[in-house]
Amino acid sequence: MRKTYFEVFQAEGFQAFKTNNGKEVLDLAKKETPNIILLDVALSEMDGFRALEALKKDTSTQKIPVIMYAQLEKKEDRAKAIELEARDFITAAEVTPLEAINRIKIILGEQRSYRVAINKNDGYDIKEFIEDLIGNKVAKCPKCGSDLILHLIKDLSKGPDYFKVSFICPKCA
Ligand SMILES: [Zn+2]
Repeated sequence: MRKTYFEVFQAEGFQAFKTNNGKEVLDLAKKETPNIILLDVALSEMDGFRALEALKKDTSTQKIPVIMYAQLEKKEDRAKAIELEARDFITAAEVTPLEAINRIKIILGEQRSYRVAINKNDGYDIKEFIEDLIGNKVAKCPKCGSDLILHLIKDLSKGPDYFKVSFICPKCA
C-alpha cells in the first residue's frame, strides 16, 4: 500500500500538519509558519490555486515555498502554479511521496542562509552556523583534536563573490 504524504513526512522526522479544506490553509500557515507547504490543487471549499493566491498575497506567508500537488498532469495547472509563484509542481502519477520528500529537502536546504555581520559580534550564532555547516559534529580535528579553522577560498571560476568553504586544522593542515 502506498503511504500518504502525511505518513511519509512524519516518518522522515518532519513536524507535519494537515488541513481538511482550502479555507484552512491560510489560517494554518499563519498559525504554524511552516518551512514549506504542499498544496493539493483539488481541495474542497477553496481550491489549491485560490489558497496559493491567498498565501502569496499575505505578507506573513508569501515567502513560504509552496509545492503544488495534483493527481494528474495538466499543462494548464502547471503553468498556473508557476504563474502564481509556486516553487514546484508535482503529480501523483509522476512522483512518489518519497521522491517528493527529496525535492522538499533540496528546497529546504536552499533556504538555509546565514548573514554574518563583519564588525559586530551580535546578531548571529557562530556556533550554530558551524554546526549546521558540518552537520552537528564538534568542530575539532579528528586526528589531533585541535579546534578547526573555517577556511574560505575565492572561487573565481564561479564569480568574484563566490567562495569555497572548508575546515582546516591549524596543526595538521
Ligand atoms: Zn589536527
